[in-house]
Amino acid sequence: MRRPIIVGNWKMNMLISDADEWIAGLLKNSYLTEALDIVVAPAFTSLAVLRDRIEKSGIKLAGQNIGQEIGGSLTGEISATMLKDAGCSYVILGHSERRQYFAETDEIINKKISIACNQGLNIIFCVGESLVERDSGRTNEIIEAQLSGGLANLNLIQLSQLAIAYEPVWAIGTGHTATPDQAQDVHLYIRAWIRKLFGTNFAESTRILYGGSVKPETSKSLMNQSDIDGLLVGKASLKIREFCDIINSLF
Ligand code: PEP
Repeated sequence: MRRPIIVGNWKMNMLISDADEWIAGLLKNSYLTEALDIVVAPAFTSLAVLRDRIEKSGIKLAGQNIGQEIGGSLTGEISATMLKDAGCSYVILGHSERRQYFAETDEIINKKISIACNQGLNIIFCVGESLVERDSGRTNEIIEAQLSGGLANLNLIQLSQLAIAYEPVWAIGTGHTATPDQAQDVHLYIRAWIRKLFGTNFAESTRILYGGSVKPETSKSLMNQSDIDGLLVGKASLKIREFCDIINSLF
């Protein structure tokens, strides 16, 4: 049985004061962490304040990125150890915005996943095809290339804290959520790929999240699919009301 997980990805939004107000709303629902993992990925600047507010609530924090080295002279970067120090137990890696706007290749993502694994962070590894790739019938091929590139040379022990997020690029921030069937098809493909490489037990226990314009109206039908174990929520996570509605729609 895979434990459901809902992740809010704030991207480059929200000031510390916004975060403080937002978390007060989520704390009212924190009893739900008995039934599912609730994870928030704020900007780095809000991590420490949220860490103090969520103490003992069961809510978890995620970083939105880490640098590709464990430390050193890399101005502007944040290490996996720094994320842990600031209260994170998760990190989002391979997000399409990082691939698109920051030229992150599968090789760079693989390095980051390896560092995050070795530092004991839970990883939310994002994969997803563009509209052109989907329209040309290449969805599975693209997903497979991203999975095998991102997870290259990693073993089952390193990957024990891995979750995968299927985030079709054409659905992110566009308002066009994938239909439950479209998402389920790709999730099934991802699970079959994991099974082929890492075996049935690992495939059955690995959580696969869907992300891309999830809203309170679409969350339940997505989560009703047998291979959708969680949701990665961008825009709708910025309003605490909508984020809580998404969480509550699962009950
Ligand atoms: C995301 O960027 O991870 C995401 C899912 O964004 P949105 O929900 O806004 O499409």
